[in-house]
Amino acid sequence: MMILNIEKIGSSALKKLAQLVTTEEIQTEAMQKLISAMISTMRYHEGVGIAAPQVSVNKQIICVGGYEKNKRYPEQPPVPLIILINPQYEPYENNFVDDAEGCLSIPGKRGTVARFQKIKYSGYDQYGSFIDAVAEDFFARIIQHEIDHLNGILFIEKAKDIVDI
Ligand code: ZN
Repeated sequence: MMILNIEKIGSSALKKLAQLVTTEEIQTEAMQKLISAMISTMRYHEGVGIAAPQVSVNKQIICVGGYEKNKRYPEQPPVPLIILINPQYEPYENNFVDDAEGCLSIPGKRGTVARFQKIKYSGYDQYGSFIDAVAEDFFARIIQHEIDHLNGILFIEKAKDIVDI
């Protein structure tokens, strides 16, 4: 199991626009190892999601969920593990919800962020298959948070009521 170093706020790795992954690249052993290391790193830190720029890889890859109960967000429901390469989303309906958010790159902080309650998302999974599905509530929130990372955006730039935890 490989645990990668997580970039913290202030790092230039978190400010870049992540690059698209090619279809050929998805099938490579290096990509499979990276995805596996991202999942291990997310789980090691009890995260609910992780984006490649957080482990200094400037590519459009996110891992989301994969837990029944999460220590950092014990009040939130289970979220299935999904890997999304070159992910995109759009609102399913124009309904925003406020909820508390944190980030492995910003230890000790939480803030309230308005996110779409329900989204349509798409991307390629770790095998190169196209995924097109709907997510809502915390699941949708994590996807939006992780895709923000691919655009160099941290939750703290959107949050109100930031508190130390
Ligand atoms: Zn984050």
